[in-house]
Amino acid sequence: NPRHVRSPFREAVIDLDAIRANVAHLAATVAPASVMAVVKADAYGHGAAPVARAALEGGADWLGVADIDEALALRDAGIEAPVLAWLHDPDARYDGAIAQRVDLGVSSIAQLEAMADAAARAGRPANLHLKLDTGLSRNGILRTEWDAAVARAAALEAEGRIRVRGLFSHLANTSPVDDRDQLAAFLDGVAAAERAGVVPDVRHLAASAGALRVPETRLDLVRIGIGVYGLPPFGDGTTAADLGLRPAMTLRGRVAAVRHVESGTGVSYGYTWRAPRPTTLALVPLGYADGIPRHASGRGEVVIGGRRHRVAGRVAMDQFVVDVGDADVAVGDEVVLFGDPADGVPSADDWADAAGTIGYEIVTRIGPRVPRTHL
Ligand code: PLP
Repeated sequence: NPRHVRSPFREAVIDLDAIRANVAHLAATVAPASVMAVVKADAYGHGAAPVARAALEGGADWLGVADIDEALALRDAGIEAPVLAWLHDPDARYDGAIAQRVDLGVSSIAQLEAMADAAARAGRPANLHLKLDTGLSRNGILRTEWDAAVARAAALEAEGRIRVRGLFSHLANTSPVDDRDQLAAFLDGVAAAERAGVVPDVRHLAASAGALRVPETRLDLVRIGIGVYGLPPFGDGTTAADLGLRPAMTLRGRVAAVRHVESGTGVSYGYTWRAPRPTTLALVPLGYADGIPRHASGRGEVVIGGRRHRVAGRVAMDQFVVDVGDADVAVGDEVVLFGDPADGVPSADDWADAAGTIGYEIVTRIGPRVPRTHL
């Protein structure tokens, strides 16, 4: 059925070789620490199962996700590697996760008890990573409760109901000085756990930014998300190439219409842009429903036929217009929105800058209508 053939009308092409190479490069950089590839949110929009497999091939030893459903989806895809899930529904029962050998992050004593109860029902110990809040103030066990939590974990471990495989925390990425303060707080927590008799296999703190910028935060394991996808974590103009990384996602489409317009012609809702001269407009079939930020109206740039052209007027739900001037553009020509800047195209960060956001949000929000093609 031709309707089932994927069309490059809109398409996100994911280069799994880039994923493998990025993980291999990061693994070599952080060694002897190991790498957990963070594949939550459908691998930041890149496709969780194929990216997880490529990351493991590239040398990751662990996978990280936010919630248990994401971890179970990896298991359903036949992926058996260690996987950690750290953000839980308040009513979660954890039975399925324990049955599928999903490691669980623990952010409160109440969660610890619920996980130990589920482990007792399952007849096998739950593999847990105690998350210590060292300053981010999102989740994680409050510092005032660290001693009580590690004491209770030690007792549950002695009963064989849980195994504390990890102790971890997460950096606020405020500054290297602040990262080191959080590291010191975390190591206090590790020492408190050891005094209570809890000795984890892995201590982990850093995500991409910490791992690349503050080497002492690497400890036993780093949880790398954005770097896996070849995007810089810093937002300070550092490029992927500066970090030895290759962006894995190319977002492209095909020109859906071309028209020549007179000077003064208003374009798209609200006529926020009017042709400053007789010009040619090309219609790109991606809009905010596909994750193209409306805030990039009038600012984002695309490449058609090797030349850069800017969004003219507002990004709409399904489409936007670019002013291609006197360029020779035809219906059906390839339009690249972003990819590897080494190929002369904008980066996801360029779109982020145009929209006042971060590259993470650009790739993660590419919508379900855009097929992912894994190469
Ligand atoms: N660890 C945790 C707990 C996270 O929430 C995230 C993502 O936000 C990561 C690691 C990966 O972060 P990054 O993509 O900056 O490497």
